[in-house]
Amino acid sequence: MTNTSKRSVRTTSIQYNIQIVISLTFLAAAVASVGFMQSDDRVFKYAVHDMTRPQPAIVTPGPACISSAPSDAIVLFGGKDLSAWSKAGSDAPAGWSVKDGVATITAGSGNIATRQSFGDCQVHIEWMVPVELKCDSQHGCNSGLFFHSRYEIQILNSSGNVTYADGMAGSLYGQYPPMVNPCRPQGEWNTYDVVFRGPRFDASAGIVRTATVTLIFNGVLVQDDVELLGATAHGARATYSSHPDTGPIMLQDHGDPLKFRNIWIRPLGNPQVSE
Ligand code: MG
Repeated sequence: MTNTSKRSVRTTSIQYNIQIVISLTFLAAAVASVGFMQSDDRVFKYAVHDMTRPQPAIVTPGPACISSAPSDAIVLFGGKDLSAWSKAGSDAPAGWSVKDGVATITAGSGNIATRQSFGDCQVHIEWMVPVELKCDSQHGCNSGLFFHSRYEIQILNSSGNVTYADGMAGSLYGQYPPMVNPCRPQGEWNTYDVVFRGPRFDASAGIVRTATVTLIFNGVLVQDDVELLGATAHGARATYSSHPDTGPIMLQDHGDPLKFRNIWIRPLGNPQVSE
Protein backbone atom coordinates (compact mmCIF):
# COMPACT_ATOMS: atom_id res chain seq x y z
CA MET A 1 0.00 0.00 0.00
CA THR A 2 1.36 3.39 -1.00
CA ASN A 3 1.55 6.28 1.45
CA THR A 4 -1.26 7.97 -0.47
CA SER A 5 -3.45 4.86 -0.14
CA LYS A 6 -2.68 4.63 3.60
CA ARG A 7 -3.64 8.31 4.08
CA SER A 8 -6.85 7.68 2.15
CA VAL A 9 -7.74 4.67 4.31
CA ARG A 10 -6.89 6.62 7.49
CA THR A 11 -8.97 9.61 6.35
CA THR A 12 -11.91 7.35 5.50
CA SER A 13 -11.57 5.67 8.88
CA ILE A 14 -11.56 9.02 10.71
CA GLN A 15 -14.60 10.21 8.73
CA TYR A 16 -16.34 6.94 9.56
CA ASN A 17 -15.57 7.34 13.27
CA ILE A 18 -16.81 10.93 13.23
CA GLN A 19 -20.03 9.76 11.60
CA ILE A 20 -20.45 7.12 14.30
CA VAL A 21 -19.87 9.68 17.05
CA ILE A 22 -22.36 12.08 15.45
CA SER A 23 -24.92 9.31 15.01
CA LEU A 24 -24.50 8.14 18.60
CA THR A 25 -24.82 11.73 19.83
CA PHE A 26 -28.10 12.18 17.92
CA LEU A 27 -29.31 8.79 19.16
CA ALA A 28 -28.47 9.69 22.76
CA ALA A 29 -30.23 13.05 22.38
CA ALA A 30 -33.28 11.35 20.90
CA VAL A 31 -33.37 8.77 23.72
CA ALA A 32 -32.96 11.53 26.31
CA SER A 33 -35.74 13.52 24.66
CA VAL A 34 -38.11 10.55 24.63
CA GLY A 35 -37.11 9.81 28.21
CA PHE A 36 -38.00 13.38 29.21
CA MET A 37 -41.30 13.27 27.35
CA GLN A 38 -42.21 10.05 29.11
CA SER A 39 -40.78 11.07 32.46
CA ASP A 40 -44.25 11.90 33.75
CA ASP A 41 -46.91 9.74 32.18
CA ARG A 42 -49.58 11.63 34.11
CA VAL A 43 -49.03 14.58 31.80
CA PHE A 44 -47.82 13.40 28.44
CA LYS A 45 -49.78 10.18 28.03
CA TYR A 46 -53.03 12.11 27.73
CA ALA A 47 -54.29 15.15 25.90
CA VAL A 48 -55.54 18.09 27.95
CA HIS A 49 -59.08 17.28 29.25
CA ASP A 50 -58.74 13.75 27.83
CA MET A 51 -61.94 11.84 28.70
CA THR A 52 -60.01 8.55 28.49
CA ARG A 53 -57.73 9.60 31.32
CA PRO A 54 -58.57 7.26 34.23
CA GLN A 55 -60.88 8.52 36.94
CA PRO A 56 -59.17 8.51 40.36
CA ALA A 57 -60.45 5.94 42.87
CA ILE A 58 -63.19 7.15 45.18
CA VAL A 59 -62.14 7.42 48.83
CA THR A 60 -64.67 8.10 51.57
CA PRO A 61 -63.15 10.76 53.84
CA GLY A 62 -63.45 10.63 57.60
CA PRO A 63 -66.12 12.70 59.33
CA ALA A 64 -65.88 16.44 58.76
CA CYS A 65 -64.53 18.45 61.66
CA ILE A 66 -64.47 22.17 62.22
CA SER A 67 -61.04 23.67 61.71
CA SER A 68 -60.14 26.96 63.39
CA ALA A 69 -57.42 29.28 62.12
CA PRO A 70 -54.09 28.99 63.95
CA SER A 71 -52.88 32.05 65.86
CA ASP A 72 -50.41 33.21 63.18
CA ALA A 73 -52.84 32.93 60.27
CA ILE A 74 -54.33 35.84 58.34
CA VAL A 75 -58.07 35.27 58.29
CA LEU A 76 -59.37 35.98 54.78
CA PHE A 77 -62.97 35.11 55.55
CA GLY A 78 -64.10 34.42 59.11
CA GLY A 79 -67.85 34.58 58.48
CA LYS A 80 -68.54 38.30 58.95
CA ASP A 81 -67.71 40.01 55.70
CA LEU A 82 -65.58 39.95 52.57
CA SER A 83 -63.61 43.09 53.42
CA ALA A 84 -60.32 41.23 52.73
CA TRP A 85 -61.49 40.78 49.14
CA SER A 86 -62.38 42.91 46.15
CA LYS A 87 -63.88 42.26 42.76
CA ALA A 88 -60.89 40.73 40.98
CA GLY A 89 -58.83 43.21 39.01
CA SER A 90 -60.43 46.22 40.65
CA ASP A 91 -60.84 48.09 43.92
CA ALA A 92 -64.61 47.52 43.93
CA PRO A 93 -66.10 45.52 46.80
CA ALA A 94 -66.53 41.79 46.34
CA GLY A 95 -69.99 41.21 44.92
CA TRP A 96 -70.72 37.93 46.69
CA SER A 97 -73.26 37.66 49.51
CA VAL A 98 -72.56 36.83 53.15
CA LYS A 99 -75.14 35.30 55.44
CA ASP A 100 -74.99 33.14 58.57
CA GLY A 101 -71.18 32.97 58.42
CA VAL A 102 -71.15 31.74 54.83
CA ALA A 103 -70.15 33.54 51.62
CA THR A 104 -72.10 32.62 48.50
CA ILE A 105 -71.14 33.35 44.92
CA THR A 106 -73.50 35.82 43.30
CA ALA A 107 -73.51 34.48 39.76
CA GLY A 108 -72.27 37.03 37.29
CA SER A 109 -70.78 39.37 39.90
CA GLY A 110 -67.25 38.28 39.00
CA ASN A 111 -64.27 36.59 40.56
CA ILE A 112 -63.08 37.92 43.90
CA ALA A 113 -59.44 38.40 44.88
CA THR A 114 -57.65 39.19 48.12
CA ARG A 115 -56.68 42.81 48.56
CA GLN A 116 -53.32 41.63 49.87
CA SER A 117 -50.81 39.78 47.71
CA PHE A 118 -49.12 36.61 48.87
CA GLY A 119 -46.14 34.50 47.85
CA ASP A 120 -45.48 31.02 49.16
CA CYS A 121 -48.25 30.09 51.54
CA GLN A 122 -50.44 27.59 53.35
CA VAL A 123 -54.16 28.06 52.70
CA HIS A 124 -57.22 26.53 54.30
CA ILE A 125 -60.62 26.88 52.64
CA GLU A 126 -63.99 25.18 53.04
CA TRP A 127 -66.49 24.98 50.19
CA MET A 128 -69.87 23.43 49.57
CA VAL A 129 -72.07 22.75 46.54
CA PRO A 130 -75.73 23.29 47.53
CA VAL A 131 -78.00 20.29 46.99
CA GLU A 132 -80.33 22.16 44.66
CA LEU A 133 -77.65 22.78 42.03
CA LYS A 134 -77.73 20.62 38.91
CA CYS A 135 -74.23 19.46 38.02
CA ASP A 136 -73.31 18.42 34.49
CA SER A 137 -69.58 17.86 34.09
CA GLN A 138 -68.03 21.36 34.25
CA HIS A 139 -71.42 23.09 34.28
CA GLY A 140 -73.60 24.02 37.23
CA CYS A 141 -71.27 23.28 40.17
CA ASN A 142 -67.96 24.92 39.35
CA SER A 143 -65.64 27.39 41.07
CA GLY A 144 -61.90 27.50 41.67
CA LEU A 145 -59.14 28.54 44.01
CA PHE A 146 -56.40 30.45 42.22
CA PHE A 147 -52.93 31.43 43.43
CA HIS A 148 -51.40 34.54 41.88
CA SER A 149 -54.83 34.81 40.18
CA ARG A 150 -53.57 32.31 37.59
CA TYR A 151 -52.86 28.86 39.04
CA GLU A 152 -56.16 27.04 39.66
CA ILE A 153 -57.03 24.24 41.99
CA GLN A 154 -60.41 23.19 40.68
CA ILE A 155 -63.48 23.40 42.92
CA LEU A 156 -66.32 21.28 41.54
CA ASN A 157 -68.84 18.74 42.68
CA SER A 158 -67.05 15.46 41.94
CA SER A 159 -69.41 13.27 43.92
CA GLY A 160 -71.58 11.58 41.31
CA ASN A 161 -70.65 14.14 38.67
CA VAL A 162 -68.21 12.81 36.09
CA THR A 163 -65.97 15.11 34.11
CA TYR A 164 -62.51 14.89 32.60
CA ALA A 165 -60.05 13.77 35.26
CA ASP A 166 -57.84 16.86 34.98
CA GLY A 167 -60.87 19.07 35.63
CA MET A 168 -62.42 17.41 38.68
CA ALA A 169 -62.32 18.60 42.28
CA GLY A 170 -58.77 18.57 43.61
CA SER A 171 -57.25 18.70 40.13
CA LEU A 172 -54.64 21.22 39.08
CA TYR A 173 -56.92 22.27 36.27
CA GLY A 174 -55.94 20.97 32.85
CA GLN A 175 -52.77 19.42 34.23
CA TYR A 176 -53.05 16.87 37.04
CA PRO A 177 -56.04 14.92 38.37
CA PRO A 178 -56.11 14.32 42.11
CA MET A 179 -54.53 11.00 43.14
CA VAL A 180 -57.89 9.87 44.57
CA ASN A 181 -61.37 11.35 44.80
CA PRO A 182 -62.50 12.09 48.39
CA CYS A 183 -65.19 14.64 47.40
CA ARG A 184 -68.18 14.84 49.73
CA PRO A 185 -71.73 14.91 48.31
CA GLN A 186 -73.64 18.10 47.56
CA GLY A 187 -74.83 19.81 50.73
CA GLU A 188 -71.74 18.75 52.73
CA TRP A 189 -68.68 20.88 53.38
CA ASN A 190 -65.36 20.04 51.73
CA THR A 191 -61.96 21.26 52.91
CA TYR A 192 -58.79 22.08 51.02
CA ASP A 193 -55.50 22.50 52.84
CA VAL A 194 -52.90 23.69 50.38
CA VAL A 195 -49.19 24.39 50.42
CA PHE A 196 -48.41 26.56 47.40
CA ARG A 197 -44.93 27.66 46.42
CA GLY A 198 -44.84 30.10 43.56
CA PRO A 199 -42.53 30.15 40.57
CA ARG A 200 -39.45 32.33 40.32
CA PHE A 201 -38.28 34.15 37.21
CA ASP A 202 -34.90 35.62 36.38
CA ALA A 203 -34.24 39.16 35.11
CA SER A 204 -34.92 38.12 31.53
CA ALA A 205 -38.29 36.56 32.51
CA GLY A 206 -36.95 33.00 32.24
CA ILE A 207 -38.29 30.52 34.74
CA VAL A 208 -35.80 29.39 37.35
CA ARG A 209 -38.22 27.58 39.67
CA THR A 210 -41.59 26.08 38.83
CA ALA A 211 -44.59 26.47 41.13
CA THR A 212 -45.47 23.50 43.33
CA VAL A 213 -48.71 22.44 44.98
CA THR A 214 -49.47 20.07 47.81
CA LEU A 215 -53.18 19.56 48.45
CA ILE A 216 -54.94 17.72 51.25
CA PHE A 217 -58.62 17.32 50.33
CA ASN A 218 -60.95 16.36 53.17
CA GLY A 219 -57.93 15.04 55.09
CA VAL A 220 -56.65 13.01 52.13
CA LEU A 221 -53.45 13.81 50.22
CA VAL A 222 -54.37 14.27 46.54
CA GLN A 223 -51.48 16.41 45.19
CA ASP A 224 -48.01 15.70 46.55
CA ASP A 225 -45.57 18.55 45.90
CA VAL A 226 -46.58 18.58 42.23
CA GLU A 227 -44.75 20.90 39.84
CA LEU A 228 -47.16 23.00 37.80
CA LEU A 229 -46.59 23.12 34.05
CA GLY A 230 -47.59 26.77 33.91
CA ALA A 231 -50.55 29.09 34.38
CA THR A 232 -53.98 27.49 34.15
CA ALA A 233 -55.32 27.27 30.62
CA HIS A 234 -58.51 25.77 29.18
CA GLY A 235 -58.01 23.21 26.44
CA ALA A 236 -54.32 24.01 26.00
CA ARG A 237 -50.98 23.06 27.49
CA ALA A 238 -50.04 25.42 30.29
CA THR A 239 -47.04 27.68 29.98
CA TYR A 240 -45.39 30.17 32.29
CA SER A 241 -45.16 33.88 31.80
CA SER A 242 -43.19 36.06 34.18
CA HIS A 243 -44.94 37.74 37.12
CA PRO A 244 -44.01 39.15 40.55
CA ASP A 245 -43.22 36.81 43.45
CA THR A 246 -46.45 37.74 45.19
CA GLY A 247 -50.02 37.95 43.91
CA PRO A 248 -53.65 37.74 45.07
CA ILE A 249 -55.56 34.63 46.02
CA MET A 250 -58.62 34.50 43.76
CA LEU A 251 -61.93 32.63 43.93
CA GLN A 252 -63.80 31.97 40.72
CA ASP A 253 -67.33 33.01 39.79
CA HIS A 254 -68.09 30.36 37.18
CA GLY A 255 -71.78 31.32 37.28
CA ASP A 256 -72.74 28.83 40.00
CA PRO A 257 -73.71 29.82 43.59
CA LEU A 258 -71.25 27.69 45.57
CA LYS A 259 -70.65 28.50 49.23
CA PHE A 260 -67.46 29.20 51.22
CA ARG A 261 -66.47 29.54 54.85
CA ASN A 262 -63.43 29.56 57.11
CA ILE A 263 -60.69 30.80 54.77
CA TRP A 264 -57.27 31.56 56.19
CA ILE A 265 -53.70 31.81 55.01
CA ARG A 266 -50.24 31.46 56.54
CA PRO A 267 -47.49 33.10 54.47
CA LEU A 268 -44.38 30.93 54.18
CA GLY A 269 -40.78 31.86 53.54
CA ASN A 270 -39.70 34.93 51.71
CA PRO A 271 -41.25 36.91 50.11
CA GLN A 272 -44.32 36.51 52.29
CA VAL A 273 -46.72 39.35 51.84
CA SER A 274 -46.91 42.60 49.96
CA GLU A 275 -49.55 45.24 50.50
MG1 MG B 1 -63.15 26.19 38.07
